[in-house]
Amino acid sequence: MRDLSSPIERGVKCSKCERGAVARVKYAKLNLCEDHFKEYVEKRFVEFLEKRKVLEGVRKVVVAVSGGKDSLSLLHMLAKYKDKLGLEEIYGIHIDLGLGASSEEAREVVLENCEKLGVKCLVLDLRSLIGYSLAELSAISRRPPCSVCGTVKRYLANLVAVELGADAIAFGHHLDDILKYAIKDLLVEGRADMIKLSPVSEGIRGLLASKIKPLYEIYESDLELYARHAGIRTVKSSCPFKYEDFITRSIREMLDKIELEAPGFKLGLIRRLTTSWREGPPAGVASCKYCGMPSSGEVCSFCKITARAVGKPLGPEARAKVRELVGAFAARGSA
Ligand code: AMP
Ligand code: ZN
Ligand code: ZN
Repeated sequence: MRDLSSPIERGVKCSKCERGAVARVKYAKLNLCEDHFKEYVEKRFVEFLEKRKVLEGVRKVVVAVSGGKDSLSLLHMLAKYKDKLGLEEIYGIHIDLGLGASSEEAREVVLENCEKLGVKCLVLDLRSLIGYSLAELSAISRRPPCSVCGTVKRYLANLVAVELGADAIAFGHHLDDILKYAIKDLLVEGRADMIKLSPVSEGIRGLLASKIKPLYEIYESDLELYARHAGIRTVKSSCPFKYEDFITRSIREMLDKIELEAPGFKLGLIRRLTTSWREGPPAGVASCKYCGMPSSGEVCSFCKITARAVGKPLGPEARAKVRELVGAFAARGSA
């Protein structure tokens, strides 16, 4: 990562002005000062959204904000270019998974950023919604925390977007994330999951919100420097369950190594792999017999996990509480 857009030694001038450069953007053969670097990242962001029509039909967007550099940079850029991008309303949603100090810090950082940007933010606290933290739910259901976490976050973010009547949920996945997981799919499953390789995945009105990935062509290293130079406060602590398996780490290291020798390689690769910029709604989506939310079978993953953990599906309860919170949030402006 360090090798891509990297901080630069003192004394090197910006390629666009007389000021000192703070970043070397190798894939574009540019050395940039703080202002020109931020401008460069923002320009790439806006141009991508416009060129690929990622925000077509999107007026009201919910941004899933974790407190990390990616989703916070995303929120800042969407808020900054709201009018230019044709957005009418932007909401933040943060899920507090109840993981002690790291969750407390994340919640505080997200709320501080949203307040600064004038973005209304809804925090959902897993423990108050269903009575269990992520660690407890994972332990009693005997399922790995990262898989439970993914299910919980997808389920709750979708619930909020559907209840708010939003046109899309925006996630902070960036180029490096998307490429890494697509290649992992190819190596482990024997196929590249092309749905994951589209920046827009359409939804089904009233059931499944459309999902968008506006940072699809933005390098992680650019986001790291962007967040720093834009003065965005991000979380310091990381998730206690954070873990990168051997295959994922090897793929990341391999991609970084190639990028070092051939700057722009990752960007070219993701463009070559992308077969469609917009995916239709997933086929065969049913609604869960307990909570009515999207499911690939009779029962959704959230109801399955909670039923396995506590003996009854907690989707209906969570849904009723989220509906109440969203109602109050929409009326009041923050929660
Ligand atoms: P991760 O799977 O942790 O890399 O996160 C991927 C994306 O999911 C982030 O960029 C955010 O958009 C979203 N996300 C992750 N954690 C949370 C959270 N606790 N609350 C809301 N959104 C989240
Ligand atoms: Zn400059
Ligand atoms: Zn359900």
